[in-house]
Amino acid sequence: MTPGTLLIRFGSLGDVILSFAAGRTLRAAHPDDPLTFVVKETYADLVAAQPWVDEVMPLTAADRGAMGAIRLRGQLAAGNWKRILDLQDSPRSRFLALGLGATASRWQRLRRERRAWVRDRDGEARRPAAVRPAWLRFQDAAGALGARPGGPPVVSWGERAEQEAGSLWQEWGVSAREQVVGLVPAAAWPTKEWPEFHSLALARSLVRGGARVLVVSTSAERQRLPVLSRWAEEEPAVLWFCDRLLPIAALLARCCAAVTPDSGLMHLAAAVATPVVALFGSTVPELGFAPPGEGHTVLVRGLPCQPCALHGRQRCPLGHLDCLAGLAPEEVLTTLRRTLLPGPAGPPL
Ligand code: SF4
Repeated sequence: MTPGTLLIRFGSLGDVILSFAAGRTLRAAHPDDPLTFVVKETYADLVAAQPWVDEVMPLTAADRGAMGAIRLRGQLAAGNWKRILDLQDSPRSRFLALGLGATASRWQRLRRERRAWVRDRDGEARRPAAVRPAWLRFQDAAGALGARPGGPPVVSWGERAEQEAGSLWQEWGVSAREQVVGLVPAAAWPTKEWPEFHSLALARSLVRGGARVLVVSTSAERQRLPVLSRWAEEEPAVLWFCDRLLPIAALLARCCAAVTPDSGLMHLAAAVATPVVALFGSTVPELGFAPPGEGHTVLVRGLPCQPCALHGRQRCPLGHLDCLAGLAPEEVLTTLRRTLLPGPAGPPL
């Protein structure tokens, strides 16, 4: 059995995508060594579509708990590993890597530095320095295993997803002249999600201006956005696509820009080279998760209470969610115009 490289990152979507830059450069540095990626089942198809991944080991519900970890470790122990890139760095990932006889490298989580941002809410003057972006810290860890620094994460989606996106585009009747703007209206945490009425107002303005809107989310997220959902059903210039990540990647790649919260789909849009307008609420880009690469814009109000969480919260502790409610659709529309065509006139959105 050829000795290979093991990359461990279980989730979440954004982190998995951010790990792609490190995985790609590590595979390129060791072209004869196959790379196996351990990831949650939900993201297995996305990971398997990346040309530098040789094998995916999906984590299923059966792998949960102590018995699941022991079984999984047994599976890994049957392999032949030269190096392990542990970009999860949790007790579970450390247990899996234990005793495999390979050189292991882990990323720097910088927990203390990140927590300092959340503790310190007294205004700009006392704010700590920005934390090194997560995707670069992933690359640092890969560098310790011989990888050279490379560009930001890139996502491939494969021929099948491309064909599906092409058929959807055709059925929807999109002409070559038309602009399609991607809109991600939901996030895993309520304090990261732009209010539904803002998403609706932006989508309406875009459609009034002659653009089309591609909305992407999970099915569950769509269900909790009933007003936007009902309007989208009756508006032919809107297409709502749910759940499957590879076609979503192919569809987002066809958009001229995407408006997203700080979320996994934000990283997906950026990694398919679509300019992103990212709306940050209870988190801030300085925590290390801004969309990597050129051409993206982050809108963040810079309130004294921001950030109030490392990842997100179920509700705003101040009860008003001003960080996101105060980001007006008009401001996002103006930013979109600037993103697409710098200059005072902007495109005909
Ligand atoms: S308004 Fe302030 S306290 Fe409330 S969710 Fe946003 S950042 Fe947190």
